[in-house]
Amino acid sequence: MAILEEPIKEVVEIKNYINGEWVESKGEVKDVVNPAKCETIAKVPISTKDEIDAAVEAAKEAFPDWRRTTLLARSRLLFRLKELMEENFEEISRIQTQEHGKTIDESRGESRRGIENVEVACGIPTLMQGYHSGDVALGIDEWVIPTPLGVFGVIAPFNFPWMIPLWSAPYAVATGNCVVIKPSSEVPLSQNKLAELVEEAGFPPGVWNVVHGGRTVVNGMLDHPDIAGIAFVGSTPTGRDVIYKRCGETGKRVIAQCGAKNFMTVMPDCDVDRTIAAMMTSFFGNTGQRCLSAANCVVVGEDDRFYNSFMDKVVAMTSRIKIGYGLDESVQVGPLRDKEKKERILRYIESGIKEGAKLRLDGREVKIIGAYPDTCFLGPTIFENVTPDMKIGSEEIFGPVMSVMRVKNLEEAIEIANANPFGNGHSIFTSDGKSAREFQYNIESGNVGINIGIVAPMAFFPFSGMKDSFFGVLHTQGKEAVRFFTESKVVIQRWF
Ligand code: NAD
Repeated sequence: MAILEEPIKEVVEIKNYINGEWVESKGEVKDVVNPAKCETIAKVPISTKDEIDAAVEAAKEAFPDWRRTTLLARSRLLFRLKELMEENFEEISRIQTQEHGKTIDESRGESRRGIENVEVACGIPTLMQGYHSGDVALGIDEWVIPTPLGVFGVIAPFNFPWMIPLWSAPYAVATGNCVVIKPSSEVPLSQNKLAELVEEAGFPPGVWNVVHGGRTVVNGMLDHPDIAGIAFVGSTPTGRDVIYKRCGETGKRVIAQCGAKNFMTVMPDCDVDRTIAAMMTSFFGNTGQRCLSAANCVVVGEDDRFYNSFMDKVVAMTSRIKIGYGLDESVQVGPLRDKEKKERILRYIESGIKEGAKLRLDGREVKIIGAYPDTCFLGPTIFENVTPDMKIGSEEIFGPVMSVMRVKNLEEAIEIANANPFGNGHSIFTSDGKSAREFQYNIESGNVGINIGIVAPMAFFPFSGMKDSFFGVLHTQGKEAVRFFTESKVVIQRWF
């Protein structure tokens, strides 16, 4: 069992990146712990109001010159950033595994999708083109100029430390805005590595800032008159009740991509082996800590023979999953991000048992490869006989727990999924085109999978969401992000 070399070798004192400088915070510090080894790898500051104000001020000052920087010059800086990301690809990936716990392959996938967003943003000279109509009235022309707005805040969750700010920040700066990023204080290292690359690429001071911390930083952004808008990704209570609400009150534009409870519908005509292979990564990959992780498996039909043989295979495959430290390349599932998250999921497992679901596979009896403390580890868990009203069938668990339900037909499967308040990433597995069409047409989900388990839109498609999974109008990634970060200035000219 070879463990890849760790890039973080001693405890890192995390600094903020403000106005092109690495600045020590005056705030209190908090430990960042590698969850596989329970070892402190960094000290992250909980920055103060003055510090977020200083970052917004720097971004505001940088804006006029940055806006005037030509499209091709901004694009070239992004190309340079992409090259540096490629050169540092493996280090970036290992940092994610060390700070978050995900496996190295999951981290490499995350690094790649982050880079892809920079690649898409490199196309800004064409992505940001306006449009023009001549002679809209006698001697009058009219046109639209997409115009940057100033300073944007980017607020990130813990589960994709590197990639999620890259769903929005590259588009914000490509369009001529400046950004202040607040990473999750649980996983601050990837974003500081990214800021180092931004600095090396030669972005002017103040265009890209990073301020670490918690609510004080977020509130500082929400209250700041010089912040034009917020791109937030995180849980529904924060996204809906704090971010979306306060942006409405203060007149800021907002993207709030939030929580999920994803349903995977299995039709009896599916390709069983491929479906189960997709289920393994969808339910248990990233230790279930994905907004696109499947949570409920809905098996359609009354054929007990199909159901029993399908579930026997699912349990057998799940039992073979290798759990351990993500820097061991043979490991398929890493630990949860921290002890508190594990305890929260343990409470869900207990509630499932109490509510009468059948615990078919108990992840609490976890076998780890290597001599690591089991503090943050939890094995894949499978419940059968789950009903949509149970807590494990209705609430976001955000861990490696599969809740299996049975329904008579596809209509009932869609009805159950649509009755849930979330609508983030539902999938169907079928070989029948009619069922696939019926599902994609009627399902209330922003991202829909047909024979795909993790419905992660490519960087040139919007990362969507419906109902309690999304608040706002435009989404992160691609053309919609370009639209979000610009206002359509309409010009009408009379030719005297
Ligand atoms: P979270 O809501 O706890 O935190 C997200 C960010 O908001 C963090 O930076 C945090 O510091 C800040 N924050 C938290 N509470 C706050 C408060 N009361 N006031 C101000 N700021 C606050 O989310 P998390 O636990 O870090 O991430 C997991 C959640 O994110 C899950 O619900 C998951 O489904 C969701 N998520 C959604 C998407 C998507 O695209 N829809 C993608 C990834 C994760």
